[in-house]
Amino acid sequence: MELWQEQIRNRVNTLERLKNYINVTQEEERAVTEMSTRWGTTPYFAGLMDRDDPSCPIRRQVVPSLKEQENTYGVPNYLIWKENRATDEVRPDAIARQYKDRVAFTVTEMCAIYCRHCFRKELVLERELRLRFDVEEGLEWIREHTEVRDVLITGGDPFLLSDDKLAYIVAKLREMPHLQMIRFGTRTPIVLPQRITEKLKSVLSGRHRIPIWINTQCNHPKEITEQTAQAVYDLLTCGVNVGNQAVLLKGINDDVETFRELHQKLLTVRIRPYYVFYCEPAHGIDHFRTPVEKGAELIRDALRGHTTGLAQPMYVVATNIGKIPLMPDYYIQDRNEKEYTLCNYQGRTTKWPNVPE
Ligand SMILES: *Cc1c(COP(=O)(O)O)cnc(C)c1O
Ligand code: SF4
Repeated sequence: MELWQEQIRNRVNTLERLKNYINVTQEEERAVTEMSTRWGTTPYFAGLMDRDDPSCPIRRQVVPSLKEQENTYGVPNYLIWKENRATDEVRPDAIARQYKDRVAFTVTEMCAIYCRHCFRKELVLERELRLRFDVEEGLEWIREHTEVRDVLITGGDPFLLSDDKLAYIVAKLREMPHLQMIRFGTRTPIVLPQRITEKLKSVLSGRHRIPIWINTQCNHPKEITEQTAQAVYDLLTCGVNVGNQAVLLKGINDDVETFRELHQKLLTVRIRPYYVFYCEPAHGIDHFRTPVEKGAELIRDALRGHTTGLAQPMYVVATNIGKIPLMPDYYIQDRNEKEYTLCNYQGRTTKWPNVPE
């Protein structure tokens, strides 16, 4: 058995195992024993939790909380609405569509860790929503839809599939002349870096006509280790770029210092920040959500001007009609036919000549 498979087999998903890593609080113990939610983490990621601090940013992403039973702002049947599954277009369950040229192709509902803030929790954690992720059906649909040029393989976590299964999916997609890129969304470089094995590298590597891109999810600088650095380097040497899609999480990364450190540290291990998502209104995750403008403010106060533009993700609200970027609205202070008054991150202004249409 490979190391990564052992990590999955020894998943920390019982109270007993959890107690090997942290001093479980009474509240945590009740949440773990009383709630019927799926939870758990790889031993590797569990090892990054603070033994004594229940507000540890990794611990809060991993250990269930009684707060998940509260719901004031969450949208009912969130995922069906969000993923546009109730529209007229007939699609297999495996295909979620919001755009003409690209689709999300869900191939599994398993993950290496079950994030407490997951917006797909109805499907991945609570499993109230039953969808059929048939890979063949999905491939067939993509084959027939020649307007699709970009396939985002997602889950759950697609890298929990075997190397053979992944090789099969990649090979089938690469046979389709209308495709121009394949993307994977996987948390494994962060929560299960052991997954980036020689065999997986041989599946992903090579200068094929259709490149492979990866986006991972890292929400706090503490999640970045030497193992992650190695896994990302290995992927890059195969020709696979690695980006990050963080989720803005209250009390975890919504302060200026952490937000800046996260994005700077990602670059030190060659991960390029891509998106920061507003934490979506799935039920039972109110305690992770900030006001919507928070992300835009953090971009202004923590990143823009304070560090390189390479460290700057786009802040987006992922809605049912697509991802909508939000910028802090201070850049253009005034405009007339002759000139613009532009404002920088410090509040200093400058004039810029305009060109009439
Ligand atoms: C996020 C998403 C995509 C990919 O969007 P990009 O902005 O291109 O990264 C595609 N399809 C669906 C349904 C999505 O939710
Ligand atoms: S890895 Fe992604 S899909 Fe899986 S639980 Fe975490 S956020 Fe949800």
